[in-house]
Amino acid sequence: MKLLVTGGAGYIGSVVSHLLLDAGHEVVVLDDLRTGHADAVPAGARLAQVPLAEVASVLTPDAGFDGVLHLAGLIAAGESMVRPELYWDANVVGSLALLDAVRAARTPRLVFSSTAAVYGNPSELPLTEAAITAPTNTYGATKLAIDHAITSEVAAYGLAAVSLRYFNVVGALRRPDGTFVGERHDPETHLIPIALQVAAGERETLDIFGDDYPTTDGTCVRDYIHVEDLARAHLLALAAATPKEHRVYNLGNGNGFSNLEVVAAVRQVTGRPVPVRMAPRREGDPAELVASSARARQELGWAQAKPTITEMIDDAWAFLQR
Ligand code: UDP
Repeated sequence: MKLLVTGGAGYIGSVVSHLLLDAGHEVVVLDDLRTGHADAVPAGARLAQVPLAEVASVLTPDAGFDGVLHLAGLIAAGESMVRPELYWDANVVGSLALLDAVRAARTPRLVFSSTAAVYGNPSELPLTEAAITAPTNTYGATKLAIDHAITSEVAAYGLAAVSLRYFNVVGALRRPDGTFVGERHDPETHLIPIALQVAAGERETLDIFGDDYPTTDGTCVRDYIHVEDLARAHLLALAAATPKEHRVYNLGNGNGFSNLEVVAAVRQVTGRPVPVRMAPRREGDPAELVASSARARQELGWAQAKPTITEMIDDAWAFLQR
């Protein structure tokens, strides 16, 4: 298939692009390189350095795209509470421009990067796709808004769409030639890459945001998934996308790790000290997010190759050290 990958110069988008090319698809990456990296785009893909708002200049009716994988967006939950307007613009206004282009070009398939943050503080765990969506941060609210827009688009125009609700993504893609495709956010805001930077001596301490949550040790609990396992789900979703259906799948491993358990795992994998400092809560953080991915397993045949947090941290550490 000829596929457009928005955000394909970013962390998850570049891994998805690699796997699509490996599977024999033609890939065009749309990325404005605001947060992505040109050198993350695989050699076999074409890069269109275009803002999402101008996607119609690439996704034209004549271009013959068979589908879009829409990963472009802003992703930092903490920042979304401080600069919400950036998130409504990039994630919602940008995605509406994409839906306009998809409709105008009659592109048949769409796979969208949604998030566990759409659920907010869950009433029961693990979270199924039937859980109430009540985001506690602006990031989750913007992603939920697009999920709703996609549902409308599917109902009105028959688009085949799949929203993938990612839990916390870590690790790196190991290529056969020994190179890695991994996470390079600047500034980095996510727990595991920051903990690894501390282990590597690039930062002095890790601030833990809050130790008074209603969890086993008082720190937030998250469900981690290896980026390669997550990326593989995109290919399965693309194949399963069905006209007039908006399918939704949670993608996580079903196990929660507290922030302090994550730090312990980082210490174990790296063999290095990771000094931590307790800090105030970060605005908008739900206490605990743990996925049920039973639906993805049943309907997509999705399975994880690297389900343990040590394998995930190990690959992220190997990437950082290169
Ligand atoms: N976190 C932390 N210190 C940091 C970065 C993150 O304590 O320097 C916490 C954050 O408050 C949350 C968890 O780690 O409880 C996961 O946050 P992250 O930003 O990695 O992912 P999110 O779950 O927000 O998508």
